Amino acid sequence: MKFIAGNFGRKITFSYLVIFVTAFVAVAFYASRTLQNERLSEVSRSLTTQALLIGRTLPPGLIQSKNRSEIHKMVKSLGEATEARITVIAPEGLVLGDSKRSWKELLEMDNHAGRPEIRAALEGKTGSSIRYSNTLKTEMLYVAIPIHERDGEVLGVLRVAFMLTAVDQVLLSIRRPIFVGASIGILFSVVLGFWLGRSIAKRVRAMKKAAVRYATGDLTRKIPAQPDDELGALGETMNQMAKTLADRIGEIKEERNRFSSVLDNMAEGVIAVDCEKRILMINPSAEAMFDIRKESVFGKGMIETVRSKALDDMLAQAIQKQCLITGELELPRPVARVLRVNAVGISKCRDTICGILVVSDISELRRLERSRQEFVANVSHELKTPLTSVRGFIEILQGDAGTDEARRGVFLKMMEKDSDRLTRLIDDLLELSKIESGELSLKLTPVNLEQELSEAMSLFGARAAERKIALEHHMPQRRPLYVLADRDRLRQILINLIDNAVKFNRDGGRVAAGVKETENDQVRVSIEDTGQGIPAESIPRIFERFYRVDKARSRELGGTGLGLSIVKHLVEAHGGTVSCKSVPQSGSTFSFTLRKANPS
Ligand code: ADP
Repeated sequence: MKFIAGNFGRKITFSYLVIFVTAFVAVAFYASRTLQNERLSEVSRSLTTQALLIGRTLPPGLIQSKNRSEIHKMVKSLGEATEARITVIAPEGLVLGDSKRSWKELLEMDNHAGRPEIRAALEGKTGSSIRYSNTLKTEMLYVAIPIHERDGEVLGVLRVAFMLTAVDQVLLSIRRPIFVGASIGILFSVVLGFWLGRSIAKRVRAMKKAAVRYATGDLTRKIPAQPDDELGALGETMNQMAKTLADRIGEIKEERNRFSSVLDNMAEGVIAVDCEKRILMINPSAEAMFDIRKESVFGKGMIETVRSKALDDMLAQAIQKQCLITGELELPRPVARVLRVNAVGISKCRDTICGILVVSDISELRRLERSRQEFVANVSHELKTPLTSVRGFIEILQGDAGTDEARRGVFLKMMEKDSDRLTRLIDDLLELSKIESGELSLKLTPVNLEQELSEAMSLFGARAAERKIALEHHMPQRRPLYVLADRDRLRQILINLIDNAVKFNRDGGRVAAGVKETENDQVRVSIEDTGQGIPAESIPRIFERFYRVDKARSRELGGTGLGLSIVKHLVEAHGGTVSCKSVPQSGSTFSFTLRKANPS
């Protein structure tokens, strides 16, 4: 059976063969049996008729005389006219004549009284029997009838026998065409079975291939159209199923893509965990926030990945209580930041998303809040100082000092100085707020840098000369250098930087302005001084509003603490950058970049 295992075509061919052979054997057996019985009863009937006819021809006196030689002679002559063997037997079993025996053989024949057919005939019935004849060495059909009954007495028995080989011969001649027919039938059934099996197997194979393709996820290729039968309908159903499946998968994919693109583009970090707080999903914002890579954290616990006990506790509580827990926490790593955390528990089942963390980085918000508070405090403080001083002078003037001309003049001068300071402060604040709110619109034109620098420097000529500070500016290019800038704002930048360089310089020092072309069509302008310098720890904060290294000195010099902040904002509005280098007690260099331009 191994050769048909797994082969649908062969199975069908083999089944056809088995069915046909079984049917043939059954039919042949039944037909042969029926024919044989039919033939035997026919032969038996014919033998009985023959026996009756022959019996009539035998003279009763002859039988009664038991004259064996006469009877034998007569039987012999009767036997010549028929194929059958004729035997006459006396009631006591002695054979009186036999058509197939010689006289000599007759004398040697044994007593036949015990033969079943003879016994029946002696009882007055027609007896028949099929037996192997020792005399003729063949299977024989015997029919025996009683002869010449007189007063119920049987005078003898006439037996007619027929060799069954003749019957067999007839059966054989019938069986041959049956056998040939069956062989042709078997051959035909094998061919038909093979053809049918092959065609069905081919269709089944096509379906199997398609099913394998579907199983591996390829739902695009269809099963070719098939004849309109059960297999065809199955193929059609499979095609329909694949289409429905492909549609559903497409919908799910689209849904998933939409979902993941929302997650990928969210500013909030999202982490989904199972009941054991193992990470199942993480979006790019969360990766950046906690400085982790999703490939290396999948399946790992929150605590070992993010290393925040507070966060882990919030998540555990949310899963435990199946609720939303909101809180804020500060994370020292990878950079110090403030996070607002929403932890929600959605399930307690295993192997599914049990909790979701949505984390927003509110460090910038907090920083802005802090800086706004600081700013308000700083502004109040800056305004309060000159106002307090003005108020003090007014009180003095209202008192005795108001009548003294000389003292009044001094106090009024001081009040004027304070009110100037207030005006400057308010102007600077307004300017800064204008820049920060984006109200500032720059009129960018090519500006001759050398000309602007020398004009800005010349404004400080008198002040510099007072303190013997040398003002220098270096323009190495032979041709004038142009930058793309708003002329008034550029001047404001230069004035602020040169003002500081002179203000914080030592007497007899030097202020040098330099210009250098850099990569990417940029021009770097630097203002170098030989002043007190700035301590290294103050440099990162020097451009902050109201930041001053030495508050008292700055105030004394009339500074507002907003100059560098304005410079930074203006340079950045031009698309440039500003920087500061300084060596305490030796000097500072402030530089900024602008885009190079062609003269218009
Ligand atoms: P202001 O000059 O009005 O005080 P700025 O914003 O221009 O405010 O400067 C902020 C602070 O930076 C100053 O108070 C001073 O301490 C320091 N600073 C600025 N320029 C220089 C410089 N060239 N040399 C030394 N310190 C400087």
